[in-house]
Amino acid sequence: MMINNLITNLIQKKNPIIDDAIQLIKDVYLQDINEENPKPWVVGYSGGKDSSTVVQLIFEALTQLSKEQLHKKIYIISSDTLVETPLIISFINRTLQRIQDRALELNLPIETHKVKPNYKQSFWSMLIGQGYPSPNQNFRWCTDRLKIEPANRFITEKVSEHGEVIMVLGMRDNESATRANVMKSYTVEGKVLMRHSTLTKALVFAPIRNFSVDDVWNYLNNHESPWGDDNKTLQKLYQDSSSDAECPLVIDKSIKESAGSCGNSRFGCWTCTVVTEDKAVKGFIDNGEEWLKPLLSFRDWLVDIRDERIYRQKYRKNGQIYFTDVTIETKEDKAYVVIPKKSRRSRGYIPLENFEIVKKEKLKEYLLYNNIDLSDFDDTNLLIESLDDDGKVKYERLGLGPFTMVAREMILRKLLQLQNEVEFPDGLKFDLIKKEELKIIRKIWLDNGELHDKLPQIFAEEMGYDLDWEYNDRPLFDSNQLTDLELLCQEHNVDFKALKSLISIQKQYNGYKIRRGIYQDIEKALKQDYLHL
Ligand code: SF4
Repeated sequence: MMINNLITNLIQKKNPIIDDAIQLIKDVYLQDINEENPKPWVVGYSGGKDSSTVVQLIFEALTQLSKEQLHKKIYIISSDTLVETPLIISFINRTLQRIQDRALELNLPIETHKVKPNYKQSFWSMLIGQGYPSPNQNFRWCTDRLKIEPANRFITEKVSEHGEVIMVLGMRDNESATRANVMKSYTVEGKVLMRHSTLTKALVFAPIRNFSVDDVWNYLNNHESPWGDDNKTLQKLYQDSSSDAECPLVIDKSIKESAGSCGNSRFGCWTCTVVTEDKAVKGFIDNGEEWLKPLLSFRDWLVDIRDERIYRQKYRKNGQIYFTDVTIETKEDKAYVVIPKKSRRSRGYIPLENFEIVKKEKLKEYLLYNNIDLSDFDDTNLLIESLDDDGKVKYERLGLGPFTMVAREMILRKLLQLQNEVEFPDGLKFDLIKKEELKIIRKIWLDNGELHDKLPQIFAEEMGYDLDWEYNDRPLFDSNQLTDLELLCQEHNVDFKALKSLISIQKQYNGYKIRRGIYQDIEKALKQDYLHL
């Protein structure tokens, strides 16, 4: 009997797991049909196999409902981190458009949207503007800003309109043990809907939770896409990929941890420095997309410069100074400073005698005497000596902070050069950095006390044309005046950087009658640790 059913199913291309999923989707969709303000669905679509399956199943389920039953909106949202791999984002853009067009033709209450980070929080605004070091496993500042926050903003907006929403995601239990545990911890006993861990008014529905990878591919290969995509193209995206994973639309911090970095999947950011080797872009290159090679080299370079001391400030963004321990190893009676392995950098040894050693209590004197600006100080050969709790000599180095301004300018230049160098294939127009981001970076630099206003100049030099920069943001001083100011600071032993910050604060509040916050900003600028060593 079982074999007969199996044969019948095969002939009719029917699969009970698919029918069950479609039925489940219809049941959950219709649950609130009689409610005054039904909960809209927000479907996370990443372009990958799992979320494509979910959207396709939803399409199938909705076409089986009557007009009266189509009582509420389904929003299909895709995240655009602004640093998506160009091929993937153009694939997603095309698909979203087709989904929208087909839904309109079929009168389905489906609306597609792309969610993007706030430009102030974008990858380049944080990295080139604020100087955040390229993200890594220990300091992964990107996912919240680029993916979680934009999606949550969309959901919160819908929650305020409707009271509650249902997030529909392509998560599967057997994707990974961690993911299964996350889903289990959110499942409300006996219910198909799960609680969202941070958004109290959002419920999560995972209609393909019990699908295996084979179920997903079987479905996609045997069911034509309702909006006319060729699912073979999707399968091709996964070919030779080191990972079968997609980069899910991350809407939750716990899911973020279980989602990994996505840099190993085809669907991560092209700039992803969280992984040691970017297999996403490399996979495309191996498949013949040679034009992506400069992007890959640029990403590798971003990984490499991250831990180069010369490119980093020697205090934190809030001005705090800290020290990191140094390991000394002796080989054949010679002492060496150990340079630990970091991402692509291998472990190294530098003879202790190559370093200049300064006693901790004499550090301030040393910095002042040598007129050292910690925001741009090459301390590669400096060791700080002190005694540990047992009275033994120990060595430390200054802890690293954001990228220096020199490094930020260098990254921007190289990025603009890359934009000029890459030969995008026909029909693919892609801005590696957006105009809006450049304007924000310029503002961040000016607000941080960079009075030279170098960004428009860097842009013109690299791109050969100007953008419509705001006149109000023009610099207060020309370069001669700035040099005079710097000389005066040296003469009177005043920290030039602190003075520039104070001038910037004054400029920001200029013209306001009520200058609420100015004293706090001044206090913050003067309380920087590095000024009070
Ligand atoms: S793909 Fe990499 S860079 Fe992009 S958000 Fe994820 S971890 Fe960050």
